[in-house]
Amino acid sequence: MLTRGGTVVIGAGHAGFAAATALRDTGVDGPVTLLDVHCGLPYQRPPLSKAYLLGKADRARVAFRPAAYYERREITLRTGQPAVAIDRSARTVRLRSGETVGYDTLVLATGARPRPLPVPGHDLGGVLVLRTLPDADALRARLETARRPVVIGGGFIGLEFAAVAAAGGTPVTIVEAAQRILSRSVSAHTAAQLEKAHHGWGNTVRTGTGVQRIIGGHDGHAIGVRLADGTDITADLVVVGVGAVPETALAESAGLAVDDGIVTDRYLRTSDPSVFAIGDCARIAERNGSRTRRRESVQNATDQARTVARTIGGAPAAYTASPWFWSDQHQLKLQIAGDLTGYDEAVTAPGEGAFSTYCFRHGQLVAVESVNRPTDHVAARKLLERTDVSLSQRAVGPGFALADFLKFR
Ligand code: NAP
Repeated sequence: MLTRGGTVVIGAGHAGFAAATALRDTGVDGPVTLLDVHCGLPYQRPPLSKAYLLGKADRARVAFRPAAYYERREITLRTGQPAVAIDRSARTVRLRSGETVGYDTLVLATGARPRPLPVPGHDLGGVLVLRTLPDADALRARLETARRPVVIGGGFIGLEFAAVAAAGGTPVTIVEAAQRILSRSVSAHTAAQLEKAHHGWGNTVRTGTGVQRIIGGHDGHAIGVRLADGTDITADLVVVGVGAVPETALAESAGLAVDDGIVTDRYLRTSDPSVFAIGDCARIAERNGSRTRRRESVQNATDQARTVARTIGGAPAAYTASPWFWSDQHQLKLQIAGDLTGYDEAVTAPGEGAFSTYCFRHGQLVAVESVNRPTDHVAARKLLERTDVSLSQRAVGPGFALADFLKFR
């Protein structure tokens, strides 16, 4: 059977769901089909390492929308339907069932998958990752009985899991290969404050050490982790959070340009003008065209989806949104506005149990990290969009509040 025409979106994570919705919001006519390999209603990922893991949110709460929404918006939702091939000359997508779905425009929102840990023992029982709802279900069940969890990777997944575990009375050892946690994502000051908070919650953070192997017991279950320096630490649960790899296999086998992500222009168009890529899987040309960047965040997925919908709707738009994201860890809410890549100076405005770190590159503000200071974050997103106001490092200090600074500017 061949279904014809319209827009087909592959992947119903944040990017794919937002694209299908934005196509309807933009008034795009014609069929919109949303395909996903996973069964059930499309769901949000952020709660999986927070409220869902804590048992404070159920499946219905994490679903983007109930089934009726897709009917009402005339979005044909087909989950549990892996797309296995794209025929670009025929403009069809083949499903594992053998069925083909035709498209006029195709949007690839295939996301990313957990980076595998390349050491012996990675496949033992009790070694888990956290990306999907089934991953979160498995981890939640294990956490009920675990006494000695070890997290490999001091990134967002590892730290959010460790915060949840500690809040439930189960302290965790976090092993990070780099010299500090979140070495690519936050400034040294903010990383140090987060590390201190984890220590305060009872977690142990071991930085500057990789992992040699995961040690298995007689039953094929993990019982420990051997660190690069030969030290063994006991573990009855190992959570691996060492980054993500973009899902590009489908694009690659369809002959699209791929380079650690599906390569797109500023309009999110791939090397085939009728195929777009958005979200974690997309490597997009930057404003000046000299660099490319792939980002993994909800903001990036959602804003790219809206941009693509405008282009498909006949009003082509380049993607220009400023990045921001957040991470909730126990009592701490970290919010980051901007991109701190290559920052050369960071100045902190401390407050009572809260602070913001302002990151500068060549004297220009490039990012603001706020911990429990949401008003600074909101103001920072506004400031980073403006070209008529600049903030000097010298203005930042104890008692500095960005919203006040912006009030009369
Ligand atoms: P991540 O944030 O990239 O962190 C992975 C960490 O593991 C990095 O610090 C990395 O160090 C370290 N690492 C790599 N190999 C290692 C090894 N062999 N032993 C010990 N440490 C190792 O990735 P993630 O935490 O796995 O999260 C996956 C994705 O989900 C990311 O895109 C993340 O942004 C996203 N996520 C986002 C949020 C949020 O926005 N709140 C929450 C959860 C997940 P190097 O940097 O030196 O490689």
